[in-house]
Amino acid sequence: MDQPAPPLADDPNAASDPAGTTETAPERLQRALSRHFETGPSPNSSDERASCVVAQAPGRVNLLGGHTDYSGGFVLPTTIDRAVYVALRASGDETVRLRSVDFDEDATFSLEAETAIEELPTWARYVAGVTAELRRRGYAPEGFEALIAGNVPLGAGLSSSAALEVATAVGLGELFSLGLGAVETARLCQRAEQEHVGVECGIMDQFSSHLGRAGHALFLDCRSLEHRHVPLPLAEDVCLVVADSGVRRELASSKYNERRRECEEAARFFAQFDASIESLRDVPEALIEKQGTELDDTLRRRARHVVSENERVERGATLLADGDLEAFGQLMNASHASLASGYEVSCAELDALVEIAQSVEGVLGTRMTGAGFGGCTVTLVRRDATEHLRRAMEARYRERFAPDLETYVVERNLKAGLL
Ligand code: ADP
Ligand code: MG
Repeated sequence: MDQPAPPLADDPNAASDPAGTTETAPERLQRALSRHFETGPSPNSSDERASCVVAQAPGRVNLLGGHTDYSGGFVLPTTIDRAVYVALRASGDETVRLRSVDFDEDATFSLEAETAIEELPTWARYVAGVTAELRRRGYAPEGFEALIAGNVPLGAGLSSSAALEVATAVGLGELFSLGLGAVETARLCQRAEQEHVGVECGIMDQFSSHLGRAGHALFLDCRSLEHRHVPLPLAEDVCLVVADSGVRRELASSKYNERRRECEEAARFFAQFDASIESLRDVPEALIEKQGTELDDTLRRRARHVVSENERVERGATLLADGDLEAFGQLMNASHASLASGYEVSCAELDALVEIAQSVEGVLGTRMTGAGFGGCTVTLVRRDATEHLRRAMEARYRERFAPDLETYVVERNLKAGLL
């Protein structure tokens, strides 16, 4: 992983500074902010605390609902115990001065000059994208100074980018009393990434980072944005283990676009029989069985995956709410099988990680998570089997592939907000 060591304690509220005082991570960030930006509106330290806000937003992992979002379907993500933290204070002018702790880099831009966003380092474009989208919606953030640090691994499919956007928006909302709604914030963060970073992301990442709740997964209807929180008793009996295959394939984005096109084409085919069908989300299974024989075999398999996966997400949310983790785990296994064979977005490395996990006692279910062709798997495992699972995955993956499997244990999930 190209991420430097995390600058914060795992628990951002834990007292852990070497001097042995009781300074918390938010206080450390505030102090670092004022040390770094020597000029500022608040020369004395108690004013400084009053004028500085620290926001956090977590990364996420998707438990069920692979490649359903762009067909207007259902997803079931949960936040993880890693986050991006942003400490901010007003600069008193139109200028935004940023410092990334993890990239060890500064960036400056003027709120008035949106055209300059593309000249900024990539990490700063996420922040500038958020300010631009706020302004586009009529909110008026003023200039500010911000220090950014995080421990969500970058580019691993755990959504560090959405965490950065959401932490920025939450912090600015507080600093300038913008009165932002949660769903509105998720949408404007999504748009910030699409418009100002150039990534055609769905809504799931920003939505789960901002609306995810501790102790819960989030059932989200990607079309209507209706959502509900479903209990996920992570701290008690089970953990999630995320395993990063280390594979990053160029192929991924072209195949992603190809799948999007295939879904649109399959939906158009089924719309001949029912004009109310807008996307594969609207196609009943019976229609695939009845009319699907006239459809190209590949497109039929894509349609079957999306329709069955949506059903798994709905069933999975009910099972989680009932506390039936065993049955939920089986749906994760079925989801992987469907993504691998019907939708064809897995790869040998992900299949091997799934196979290894499924052979470990105490594993309830496992699947690839994210767009596929590399990236991560997520495994639901009984708490007492977690270390055994990690060791088995690391050793057996190393035998077959590269030696660099990273695993992360998610013992609890964080919520976005102010620290
Ligand atoms: P993912 O969202 O899966 O982690 P992305 O490629 O979408 O991967 O986003 C990663 C990018 O987000 C990083 O390259 C960086 O520009 C930005 N980013 C994420 N976390 C941080 C951080 N802690 N500090 C600065 N930039 C960050
Ligand atoms: Mg991202």
